[in-house]
Amino acid sequence: MQLLDGKKAALAIKEELTQKTAQLILQGKPRPHLAAILVGNDGASETYVASKVKTCAEIGFESTLKRLPNNISEEELLNEIEKLNQQEDVNGILVQLPLPKHISESKVIKAIHPSKDVDGFHPVSVGNMVSGAPTFIPATPYGILLLLEHFKVETKGKHAVVIGRSHIVGTPMSILLSRNTYPGNCTVTICHSATKNLKEICLQGDIIVAALGRAEFVTADMVKDGAVVIDVGITRVKDETKKSGFSLKGDVKFDEVAPKCSFITPVPGGVGPMTIAGLLMNTYNAYLQKHN
Ligand code: NAD
Repeated sequence: MQLLDGKKAALAIKEELTQKTAQLILQGKPRPHLAAILVGNDGASETYVASKVKTCAEIGFESTLKRLPNNISEEELLNEIEKLNQQEDVNGILVQLPLPKHISESKVIKAIHPSKDVDGFHPVSVGNMVSGAPTFIPATPYGILLLLEHFKVETKGKHAVVIGRSHIVGTPMSILLSRNTYPGNCTVTICHSATKNLKEICLQGDIIVAALGRAEFVTADMVKDGAVVIDVGITRVKDETKKSGFSLKGDVKFDEVAPKCSFITPVPGGVGPMTIAGLLMNTYNAYLQKHN
């Protein structure tokens, strides 16, 4: 079994982007600039945004964090996005999800200009992805592709089973793995909450991507020998031995599944760091599109 170490793979990408940014600065060019909007103060969202902003600083990108109150109106939020759309030096915009219930996520996603849509959720980006055109790919599936590439995991002709059909992970992942490219060229089965024979389908998977958000759902009896297992899930589980009061669990019961696998991602330290790497790559690509 080989660990798909997301920290290691993300570090390699961050080093590459650090060098490229240093080159830009030497040439007197501006730095790539990511602007993040955080509405309210949900604990997990705070952590994710802080980590994105911190990583920008580490690699030399500019970053802006706009904190907005939980009771901001939809119109005010859309105005803030429009200001960032207009701001010449901002290359990428992300609005941390989820949003308060009174704000339409779909309206917010559509308000981001497609040229700055580094989360890859805008219908224009999704349409481009489906048609195989160059575009921004949602950060988590993009990070998973980068991870498979980094560890040279063979994907061609494999049966990939994706559990979960959200628009941020499962659905784009299933589309990307089926494309005629590397990583890709898989035969893909997408499973969800209404799938009846999930265990039987998982047992056919050469590659399993678990993105359902249920702690330790995938057990050893659902995984065939030699499978590649990508664990996207992050669930906070009460843990009184931890200072924070919780520990993070993936969707896979790691201890019993790992011995059966050819490759497996840990949680934490697998897909999480690669999601940030995917976002940074998208921001750098947005910058190149503007400046080349
Ligand atoms: P979501 O809740 O939007 O979607 C979950 C999907 O799982 C749904 O499509 C649902 O049909 C399916 N599902 C639920 N129960 C199921 C069951 N019993 N059997 C089969 N399918 C089932 O979740 P999401 O936003 O896609 O996130 C999934 C998980 O990944 C969460 O734990 C989330 O925190 C995590 N996540 C991690 C990262 C990262 O960077 N590591 C990024 C995004 C999401």
